[in-house]
Amino acid sequence: MPAEFELIDRYFRRAVRRPGTRIGIGDDAAVIQPPSDSDLVVAVDTLVAGRHFPPGTPPKALGHKALAVNLSDLAAMGAQPAWATLALTLERADDGWLQAFASGFFELADRFGVELVGGDTTQGPLTLSVQVMGCLPRGEGLLRRGAGPGDEIWVTGTLGDAALYLKSLGSGEAIGEQIRRRLDYPEPRVDVGLALRNLATSAIDISDGLMADLGHLLAASGVGAELQVVDLPLSDSVRDYVTRSGDWAVPLSGGDDYELCFTAPASRQAEISERLAEFCAARVIGQVSARAGQRWVGPTGFVVPEQGGYQHFV
Ligand code: ADP
Ligand code: MG
Repeated sequence: MPAEFELIDRYFRRAVRRPGTRIGIGDDAAVIQPPSDSDLVVAVDTLVAGRHFPPGTPPKALGHKALAVNLSDLAAMGAQPAWATLALTLERADDGWLQAFASGFFELADRFGVELVGGDTTQGPLTLSVQVMGCLPRGEGLLRRGAGPGDEIWVTGTLGDAALYLKSLGSGEAIGEQIRRRLDYPEPRVDVGLALRNLATSAIDISDGLMADLGHLLAASGVGAELQVVDLPLSDSVRDYVTRSGDWAVPLSGGDDYELCFTAPASRQAEISERLAEFCAARVIGQVSARAGQRWVGPTGFVVPEQGGYQHFV
């Protein structure tokens, strides 16, 4: 088992590649220089064992996910990912675990040109905290506020897959590999966020469930929404499950989707469809209205009650 500094050198220190990285891993702090015409966009997210991921989650998936959930926040801002720091709290320094964790982390980091420039390594209950920094041309960010009455509400990908997988763990029901990957290897919609600059009027990533996160976006914009349950994008597995059980909470309130929810004027619909087509599916699920709150109309005309998403300390 490697000691702290050996561990950092072996698994996390790599050659500096980004031109803006003046000082990376190895000094007391990193020194970075964003491009002169950019704002720096910063986000941090922590994964706690047993709380944010089930025991037995493969370490490679943890490396991916710890970074992915943060890149998802940058995506929701329309930012270009650039740097990250990693605070790792480990029960013990196991080489196999570290190797797999680092491979999951760096595979994703390399896909999006993210450089790891520092971090912290401590012993304790397994906790993974990643901070990401991204760049945004001044004034071009996608914010939660900005949705206006008449705008269309869009969602990328499919909803409820991760929640369905978690449910199946409880019930012992067999579930396909595709659905499992949605929980363990969420795909941050970075390219979608970049494509939506100057096109979307507001955006948020769906980490705590669509209803809860859309609720934040609507509240920040001072508007409400009319939505159609039948328009929700669902995988075959979630569609089968909902048809069998009538449990709409899985796609509406299940967490861990990491899709983007955004709004845009109806006049931009064709342009958005065309621009996003190369990255992932995206569809309109409703319209922004001046009246506060969400009104969800179901297939037989019923109205889905508002339910909150996941919250800590309740
Ligand atoms: P200090 O004692 O000054 O806080 P550390 O001993 O914590 O510094 O870390 C030494 C160097 O290694 C620093 O540059 C720090 O950013 C980096 N580092 C520590 N842990 C990690 C990690 N898990 N991932 C990446 N870099 C790390
Ligand atoms: Mg120091």
